[in-house]
Amino acid sequence: MIVDTHCDVLMKLWERPQRSFHDSDELRINYIKWMDSPVQVQWFAIFVPEEVPSSRRFEVALEMVGLFYDRIIAPYSSIKLVTSKEEIAALQPNEKGALLTLEGCHPIGDDLTKLLTLLRLGVTSVGLTWNQANAVCDGIQEERGAGLSSFGKKVVRLLNDYKVWTDVSHLSYQGFWDVLDIADYPMASHSNAYTLTPHIRNLNDKQLDELIKRNAYIGVTFVADFLTEQPPATIDDIMIHLQYIIDRGGERCVGLGSDFDGTNSIITGLYDISEYEHLYRELSNRFSNDIVENITNRNILRMMPK
Ligand SMILES: [Zn+2]
Repeated sequence: MIVDTHCDVLMKLWERPQRSFHDSDELRINYIKWMDSPVQVQWFAIFVPEEVPSSRRFEVALEMVGLFYDRIIAPYSSIKLVTSKEEIAALQPNEKGALLTLEGCHPIGDDLTKLLTLLRLGVTSVGLTWNQANAVCDGIQEERGAGLSSFGKKVVRLLNDYKVWTDVSHLSYQGFWDVLDIADYPMASHSNAYTLTPHIRNLNDKQLDELIKRNAYIGVTFVADFLTEQPPATIDDIMIHLQYIIDRGGERCVGLGSDFDGTNSIITGLYDISEYEHLYRELSNRFSNDIVENITNRNILRMMPK
């Protein structure tokens, strides 16, 4: 089984509703490609583009929830909503699990009821920010670099109470440490190692070490700029980031978060979800069975709060 902890298909469907989830060539993850792939559990992010005016953002998040249920879950008997370990364990070999996440809390403004509504609609992991600032925290591109606001602390405590992950990918440096102070279920769904590739979206050694110490998940992502400064990025670059995190002690923390449909960057040999088999083959060549299982599913499943 492979679990992939990040993609932006919902945004792509929302941008252009005439795109078919079934077989659109414009999607790196569509039904046909997914069925042809070793990925069994795919996380789908609600990501409301920053251009959407504040007054419309929550509505747009709800529209994406609608797309998730109407276009991905409802039409296919082989795709099940998953929110817990038990639901993932219950998947048959021919079935796929779809897990709903929120990328960035800007759609909730400063309203905990809106967050609670999204959790009740099935959101199982919450990224506090995208790259900009919001009422919860600053994102990594906000120069001020502030950490969690008082409201942000309430958000993280609510996620703790509801056994929902707090995702630190995209968060400001200070925000990362504030979250690690109070989150029961911290994780990074799609970030790589800064020491290897100094991109602001990657995690430095101190951050990686803290996540490893806390036994928290780190999803290596396939965004080319986060993988290497020397394009083209290849599957080998993914191996190098995985190995780096494992060498720091992260064998039981590391995983995979592709960001398919959230980036235009292309990795040679890993264009879409159907090409995951190329990655799987390389993992099997490079690592023991035990480590391959840890990377592809065991780490993330062991850490699931529910
Ligand atoms: Zn992202």
